[in-house]
Amino acid sequence: MNNLYGTQFNISHIEPATHIYGPGRRFAVWLQGCSLACKGCWNEQMWSFKANELLDRKNLLAQILAEQDIEGITLLGGEPLDQAENTVWLIQEIKRLSSLTVMLYTGYSKQEVEQKQLWSTIEDSVDLLVSGRYQEQHRNTNNQWYGSENQELIYPQKSSIEQRSKLQNEVEIIIEETGEVRVLGYPT
Ligand code: SF4
Repeated sequence: MNNLYGTQFNISHIEPATHIYGPGRRFAVWLQGCSLACKGCWNEQMWSFKANELLDRKNLLAQILAEQDIEGITLLGGEPLDQAENTVWLIQEIKRLSSLTVMLYTGYSKQEVEQKQLWSTIEDSVDLLVSGRYQEQHRNTNNQWYGSENQELIYPQKSSIEQRSKLQNEVEIIIEETGEVRVLGYPT
């Protein structure tokens, strides 16, 4: 499934400054729509491909580049590679125009990414890939950055993110000035 909305991303949620999806302070984007339907998925509300918030990829790029003091971006969902053309465009532009690192979550395995002929792009432009379906029976809440043991953390050769061993899972609580409270991550 690809580019249902032309050059517009279908977005579920944006957090312009989070600390738990990858190293450092990051701009995180949850994309709306996932065709993989993993049993036990925590983000079932992000499966639908119905337009949620449509945002042109150039506008999203501008928002990211305008954000101060971030180390990188993290794309998750939903399934970023179900909007592959826009996702690839965005990460290539980020690499071309900035020194931000790119972390990408996908439910597709490395082999499936290769079959989609996306591997060379990902190898070139992504610093850390979290790859593979969420498997409920292999859930482990002690892992940092991934939810089930079968998922792979892949640091491509050109990665600027330092490789880490498994660390404790983290949860982030954001309290806005308006009093709105958001919990990010997966509390046990
Ligand atoms: S790939 Fe991710 S968003 Fe999609 S069903 Fe699996 S866990 Fe959920």
